[in-house]
Amino acid sequence: MPSEEEDLVNKLSARLSGEIKNLPKDGTDHAFTVKIKGNRGHINLGHQTFDIKTTKEPPPEGSNRSRGCPQCGQSTWRYTQLCMHCHYNLHHHDDVAAYEQARAHKERTTHQLLKLFAVCVGVALLIFFISDYLPEPLKPWALALTGVFGLLAFVIITSPNEQPARRMRNRHLAMVMDD
Ligand SMILES: [Zn+2]
Repeated sequence: MPSEEEDLVNKLSARLSGEIKNLPKDGTDHAFTVKIKGNRGHINLGHQTFDIKTTKEPPPEGSNRSRGCPQCGQSTWRYTQLCMHCHYNLHHHDDVAAYEQARAHKERTTHQLLKLFAVCVGVALLIFFISDYLPEPLKPWALALTGVFGLLAFVIITSPNEQPARRMRNRHLAMVMDD
């Protein structure tokens, strides 16, 4: 940080601490408003207002920075680790939810692959058994089809199905970053 900005930050910090000490000790809530106006080099700051509030305040209604707490159901800050009402660990909750979702997805995929495997084996066996009753010119084709479905079944049962879970987790991460 250039020393000029460091100087500014130090001055601001000192001023802010002073103002906080001077707040009336009457037990009520007080709010600071810091207004910044200016044009520093190539960065046009325009007008910016920061509100510093001494009390915990819920996020504005309908804001994309708010979320419902899964434990107490109240509206709390989306990116804060703990719920502001009941201190439920939201980050941990999200991790567990993402893990469960990925596991369920993997289970579904495995189930579908098993069904597909059974179908392939069934078709291969069926063609193999009816090939005896087929006309002579069709028999090589039946044998080839049996081979193809048998191979498909082999590929399905030996394919690693770790991938869907990993993709799921990445998608979850992408969603979090998009927000
Ligand atoms: Zn809560």
